[in-house]
Amino acid sequence: ANRKLIAGNWKMNGSLAALAEIDAIGAAAAANPAVDVAICPPFTLIAPAAGRGVAIGSQDCHAAAKGAHTGCVSATLLIEAGATYAIVGHSERRQDQHETDAEVRAKAEAAITGGLIAIVCVGETEAERDAGNAVSVVEGQLTGSVPPAGTAATLVVAYEPVWAIGTGRTPSVADVADMHAAIRAKLVALLGAEGPGVRILYGGSMNPKNAAELLAVPDVDGGLVGGASLTAAQFVPIIEAGA
Ligand code: 13P
Repeated sequence: ANRKLIAGNWKMNGSLAALAEIDAIGAAAAANPAVDVAICPPFTLIAPAAGRGVAIGSQDCHAAAKGAHTGCVSATLLIEAGATYAIVGHSERRQDQHETDAEVRAKAEAAITGGLIAIVCVGETEAERDAGNAVSVVEGQLTGSVPPAGTAATLVVAYEPVWAIGTGRTPSVADVADMHAAIRAKLVALLGAEGPGVRILYGGSMNPKNAAELLAVPDVDGGLVGGASLTAAQFVPIIEAGA
């Protein structure tokens, strides 16, 4: 089994006052050395959150190394601020910022080239699942957005069914197992010998109650947690469930 990664995505939440949560999460990370732990706060909190005992990631990474891209942030800048991970292709960005698979792949490549671990997000909508197309949609996203140079050390995939994000709903354990097996097979097809070691996270309404069950599913190598990552009280039990 791969070493588990429990990552929190704060989205557009948090504040300097919330750094106390980072400190408590950092203490839990130190107490649970069998798992990797990361928090991905808004860009402005990366530098103040770094160095507090938990790995820090960004929620995006521009495809270019530098230049005339107003409002954007490069891998080099993220690393300088203290990040080691970068989420790319989250469904909220695929929707709100109209990011395509090709753009997500370019961002993942830039993150990896710059020295970050890229967390590439995929996941079907409810309509796609209802139509029986969940696996084929996710396979297509992987084909389009997984960087060919990705390795077990530099690439993580997060499966986040769009309909499970922030809704309190999760797929059945059987559906998670089926999807993660399909993702594993596709990663092996795309990346060969590196495929088995690329960690596949589950994300979407993971919480202290359901984490142990979800993290025990074969090929679930961790979690990408939104709302329940905002406080140590919610996130630490999820870390412990993965340990
Ligand atoms: P929730 O855990 O709030 O459902 O969010 C999941 C997510 O989108 C993490 O990236």
